[in-house]
Amino acid sequence: TLSDRLTSVLQNLRGKGRLSDADIDATAREIRIALLEADVALPVVRAFIAGVKDRAKGAEVSGALNPAQQVIKIVNEELVGILGGETRRLEHAKNPPTVILLAGLQGSGKTTLSGKLAKWLSGQGHTPMLVACDLQRPNAVTQLQVVGERAGVPVFAPEPGNGTGDPVDVARRSLDEAKRAQHDVVIVDTAGRLGVDEEMMRQAADIRDAVSPDEIMFVVDAMIGQDAVSTAEAFRDGVGFSGVVLTKLDGDARGGAALSVRHVTGQPIMFASNGEKLEDFDVFHPDRMASRILGMGDMLTLIEQAEQAFDADQAEQAAQKLGSGQLTLEDFLEQMQAVRRMGPLQNLLGMLPGANQMKDQLANFDEKHLDRLQAIIRGMTPAERDDPKIINGSRRQRIAKGSGVNVSDINDLVNRFFEARKMMQQMAGQFGGFGGGGGTK
Ligand code: GDP
Ligand code: MG
Repeated sequence: TLSDRLTSVLQNLRGKGRLSDADIDATAREIRIALLEADVALPVVRAFIAGVKDRAKGAEVSGALNPAQQVIKIVNEELVGILGGETRRLEHAKNPPTVILLAGLQGSGKTTLSGKLAKWLSGQGHTPMLVACDLQRPNAVTQLQVVGERAGVPVFAPEPGNGTGDPVDVARRSLDEAKRAQHDVVIVDTAGRLGVDEEMMRQAADIRDAVSPDEIMFVVDAMIGQDAVSTAEAFRDGVGFSGVVLTKLDGDARGGAALSVRHVTGQPIMFASNGEKLEDFDVFHPDRMASRILGMGDMLTLIEQAEQAFDADQAEQAAQKLGSGQLTLEDFLEQMQAVRRMGPLQNLLGMLPGANQMKDQLANFDEKHLDRLQAIIRGMTPAERDDPKIINGSRRQRIAKGSGVNVSDINDLVNRFFEARKMMQQMAGQFGGFGGGGGTK
């Protein structure tokens, strides 16, 4: 899948100290292939790759992120942008009822969506009504009635036995009924064909003219890949629409439709359907979809938190001190506090790849131990933090008393600190230190 491909492309960047232009070009090439294989439309791929390359080459040096994280962040932000950026909310009419017209190919999920939308709107205190304007197929009206019943909303349909009525007439009359029965939202379900045809477009356009919708939703099956683009263009030209609903995102959609439709039509994706049940439905969030496509939701959260928690200069300084063996207990305390600002360590560790395998250790991890370490360091004078070597027997006793621990705890901390400092100094020689600032050689 697209997600797998992108993940492996970006994983190849891990461990690189610095990205050359060649690295970036190679990565961009891989991403390009991944997108094309996922059926993303070519103009969208071009725009996307250009955006990523541009930004990656001029990448802001951030002390909090290493180059791989930096690229992940850029790719993610460009994905969010291609998907529309902000979540677009439903427009409600100033004078009810708000009219929502659903258009799309047969089988795209319009009728199912009617029920989902109705239920969702009901949950927000609206009083929606469904309108059966698919009078083409014999069972279409019954299907909508079943859906309406499940969603707990009424369905306006031509009288039984009159199933071949005129959909435009039904649509028009439904508005009077909505006003009479005080429904503040009207959802008009229409007929679709297996392929785009003129008659279907004309009918949809006629219904549109009869009810002047506040929103026209183009409903598209995310599984149809490249075809989503030409279908969307046909509906844009034939009926016009103000928003897109992606359905069947639960299937093994390759992601192409989601990434293409917004960019090609200029209209936002507003809702996503991901199952046959009425609950399998949500407002479309570009950022969540992007992280789903990237397959790195938790990694992105981590990146965000790291950026917030770490001051770039501070990280740079710490990295330099690390390398030169000048790390003090004060630095140690600061780093510990910065990490802990990101949330409970258990959550933090849980976000790292491979965390599943170490669930048990995580469950046993005791935050109190860190509290104790911090208390001990806080109980030291600045001079002691700066040069722990001066902490002799009487100082140890004073600190232990002050922070409510045993003298042996102090010994433990100080000894471990010296060990850690030595180890980090050796390690810093080999790796780039923390973050991408990499003050070390
Ligand atoms: P319409 O012809 O546009 O009205 O499409 P329908 O609402 O009748 O849906 C066609 C088929 O797709 C039905 O079998 C639905 O149960 C199914 N369907 C609709 N939306 C989804 C979805 O989000 N996920 C899955 N898996 N199936 C869906
Ligand atoms: Mg239908």
